[in-house]
Amino acid sequence: MTRPALALKLTRRELNTAVAKATQDLWDSIDLDNIDASWPAILDALIGIIAEAHGQGVEIAEDEYRTARLAAGILGDPPFAPATFRVDDLREALTINGPIALKVALRRRQSRERAIAVAMSRLVGTSTRLAADGARRTTLNMVAADGRSLGWARIPRPGACAFCMMLSTRGGAYKSRESALQTKDGLSYHAHCGCYPEPVFDDNWQPPKHVREAEKLYAETPTNGDAIKSFRAAYEAAQNT
Ligand SMILES: [Zn+2]
Repeated sequence: MTRPALALKLTRRELNTAVAKATQDLWDSIDLDNIDASWPAILDALIGIIAEAHGQGVEIAEDEYRTARLAAGILGDPPFAPATFRVDDLREALTINGPIALKVALRRRQSRERAIAVAMSRLVGTSTRLAADGARRTTLNMVAADGRSLGWARIPRPGACAFCMMLSTRGGAYKSRESALQTKDGLSYHAHCGCYPEPVFDDNWQPPKHVREAEKLYAETPTNGDAIKSFRAAYEAAQNT
């Protein structure tokens, strides 16, 4: 049986942008004088959007895995191990980073505009992270279930923060399959993080240029006791030149 192809296949980045935009639009209808009464409808709509994006992310990751696997000359179907969507985890995270963040900001006597913007940034960071979980966890699940890949590599977006760049350079080009689900790196994605795990099938796999540059910088940077601190300083200096 062949699966029907999506009429419009979004990339990770487009999916992320769509979720961010939808979150902003929904947050616009929060009523500052009636936060608790106006939140449930926003929350329900948000969960619907995240569920849909999560499902699309699962498909993106599955397609990517199949394509990379086929390109490595491995025929046949990989086991499909999609990320599961757990709605219970969402409600609390979204409420903390939406209405509760808003109330905290207002209590700190921030202006109404500032308070709404602060909470919106947190809410967008949370909704996009929860949506991106679909693709991220599917890749890790498939690497673990398949047994034909060498592992996965963390790919940050160009210009990512020093923390993510450093994680992407750590431990060589890929992690072993055995550690794919054990290492925390695969699941530590902060809000507004653009990193994703990419399956690796080939010993000669090379990370993208911006990661190779970060690896070079990391290798050249003397560590004065604190590797992360030293790398961050060197990375930020390099970005500003
Ligand atoms: Zn990141």
